Amino acid sequence: MSALALEAIEVTKRYGDVVALDGVSVSVAPGECLALVGESGSGKTTLLRCFNAMVEPDAGRILLRGRDARALEPVALRRRIGYVPQEGGLMPHWRVRRNVELVPRLQHSARAGEQALDALRLVGLDPATFQERWPRELSGGQRQRVAIARALAAQPEVVLLDEPFGALDAITRTELQDAFRELQRRIGITTVLVTHDLHEATVLAHRIAVMRVGRLEQVAEAEGLVREPATEYVRRLLARSRVSA
Ligand code: ADP
Ligand code: MG
Repeated sequence: MSALALEAIEVTKRYGDVVALDGVSVSVAPGECLALVGESGSGKTTLLRCFNAMVEPDAGRILLRGRDARALEPVALRRRIGYVPQEGGLMPHWRVRRNVELVPRLQHSARAGEQALDALRLVGLDPATFQERWPRELSGGQRQRVAIARALAAQPEVVLLDEPFGALDAITRTELQDAFRELQRRIGITTVLVTHDLHEATVLAHRIAVMRVGRLEQVAEAEGLVREPATEYVRRLLARSRVSA
């Protein structure tokens, strides 16, 4: 049994002539939050979707607890890896509770309803107030909380979040970052968090993987990036984001 929660080994993915991922290797320890940081088009979403087998690599492997992800049933994979897509991905014609119940229902859980309500409480939404609402009746921040609740409802081992705070105003963003940190402290779930904001990554993640056109420039703790940027690109990114020791 591997001590690692999640691993990408030499993962390559092409779309026609575009090399979205070029031999990417990175691992996530149990309970760790790894941030994927990079400009638009650097391959962050593609890597995230390789982790939950929504994208199939052309070469390389994804391991979940040391086992090849391809060997897992799709429903089992959905249960073990929660996913918050870039736009939140809530079904507009489903009420909040039905949205959050999605994965427990796929598993035919008899407790799907309770699991959904527990998940809503976990992200700081009172079920009495929110469970019957439609997604359009939520603020941007509430919608993102529901999307996170949905990813957590089946108690996955790993949660993948694609720019979960990207589209929010500054105050809501800070509120959600705080809620996320509190959640992380309470449930200690293994997390891969995509963000284009290096500062956000330093606040929320244990380690940061800097991506650039399909390659990893550097993977390190925030202090490591600042102390010893591996490339000129990382140095410039740090300067631009005003991240310092
Ligand atoms: P990021 O999330 O960092 O913005 P993506 O992983 O979405 O980057 O994209 C990486 C590269 O792969 C980009 O050049 C993008 O245009 C390309 N790409 C991503 N998904 C597809 C797709 N389904 N079809 C064709 N090209 C794609
Ligand atoms: Mg993306």
